[in-house]
Amino acid sequence: MKSNRNTKVKRNKKPLIFQINILFHRYIFTEGTVGYMTFKNIYHIMEKWKSGATVLYFFERQIKRVLFDCQECGDCALFEVAYLCPMSKCAKFQRNGPCGGTKNGMCEADDTKRCVWSLVYERLSPGDDMYILLKDYVPPVDCSLSKTSSWANFFLGRDHISKKIAMSKGEK
Ligand code: SF4
Repeated sequence: MKSNRNTKVKRNKKPLIFQINILFHRYIFTEGTVGYMTFKNIYHIMEKWKSGATVLYFFERQIKRVLFDCQECGDCALFEVAYLCPMSKCAKFQRNGPCGGTKNGMCEADDTKRCVWSLVYERLSPGDDMYILLKDYVPPVDCSLSKTSSWANFFLGRDHISKKIAMSKGEK
């Protein structure tokens, strides 16, 4: 049997895109910030102006496809998976950690690919704010949101993250 003892785990590889996403999250996707309030208002207006919403969704799709190979699930879990899309990078769409079939950091469904969770483990370390998220339960993807704007779903309280925030504040 091959020993894993010599397998060095490289941690804290934080690509530039990861750092940029942290900033976006902090200033736009964090409740109470000016960015958050601005986008919330914009998406509320766009709910009534459908062609505007279509244009915004078009730009969202282009950006997220290039950056994350987004599959438009509409219920985004990027923040919980260290900005690695579980829908495109995991054969089983795992949002709560590795499935158990990972072998030496490779995917059991396609052994030419790294398991997304070994990449998450490399990106995060115990001191990081995001590391705590690895201990939090992430619900399965909400299929009713497929092919809809994940940003609109976040700012308008339809995705799992915004629902979690509302529940933590005692809202329905
Ligand atoms: S919206 Fe869904 S498919 Fe797109 S990046 Fe986020 S988790 Fe991946």
